[in-house]
Amino acid sequence: VAVQKPRPEVAKLLPDVKNVIAISSGKGGVGKSTVSANLAVALAKLGYKVGLLDADIFGPSMPKMFQVEDARPFLERVEGRDLIIPVEKYGVKLLSIGFFVNPDQATVWRGGMASNALKQLIADANWGELDYFLIDLPPGTSDIHLTIVQTVALTGAIVVSTPQAVALADARKGIDMFTNDKVNVPILGLVENMSWFTPAELPENKYYIFGKEGAKLLSEEMNLPLLGQIPIVQSICEGGDSGVPVALNEESITGQAFLALAENVV
Ligand code: ADP
Repeated sequence: VAVQKPRPEVAKLLPDVKNVIAISSGKGGVGKSTVSANLAVALAKLGYKVGLLDADIFGPSMPKMFQVEDARPFLERVEGRDLIIPVEKYGVKLLSIGFFVNPDQATVWRGGMASNALKQLIADANWGELDYFLIDLPPGTSDIHLTIVQTVALTGAIVVSTPQAVALADARKGIDMFTNDKVNVPILGLVENMSWFTPAELPENKYYIFGKEGAKLLSEEMNLPLLGQIPIVQSICEGGDSGVPVALNEESITGQAFLALAENVV
């Protein structure tokens, strides 16, 4: 992967972080957060030092997905600065705006406030040494995306989409946002989520509920790697709700799917 040359002012941030990867999707509900959480856990399982920033300011879901909804990060003084200590769970260092706001109150923030909060979670946190720092972006294209691009030197972006035509159309827009001349962030690849459904009682049957291989075809057309195809499986959804990501169980088919994805990312 061609690593982008960071601008001097952003290069100094996170000096001990080797790769910063943004995870985005054109549309909401395609499983971007599910993929981010499981990819983070799978990378940690492979032995890498992993951080995950939930930048989905308006719908933070990582505290629930990691079962740390009650966590309230402490501050520690490092070289004269008060830094936020990320919460650690399943081998992943985690920060989310969800740790700082009441989850029952919709976060109604002006764009500037949200951007500033995010910048603090990046720059004023003690992320330490990381091999992979994943940033789970909000869906679509927004000020938050610009903030991230301007705040950290991204190694690249991963775009998550279902195989469905409407999701793919939005994924194209997302790809364009990163690859345009102003932003110029390389796309590391696409992840096709909800690729097919297989009922437990009919393990040979695949039902292409959202269409067949849409993201695969898009990756071929755009000459981008397809990093993984993740089926629709009840345990993935349940793992999200219970805060125990399926990637923790490397014996399971789903755990293996996310480990394979992680191996394609490294
Ligand atoms: P996004 O971050 O794109 O909005 P989420 O990760 O919140 O999407 O996923 C939306 C819903 O779909 C959640 O309820 C999640 O548990 C479920 N989900 C995501 N991927 C899968 C999958 N591969 N199989 C089953 N359920 C999934």
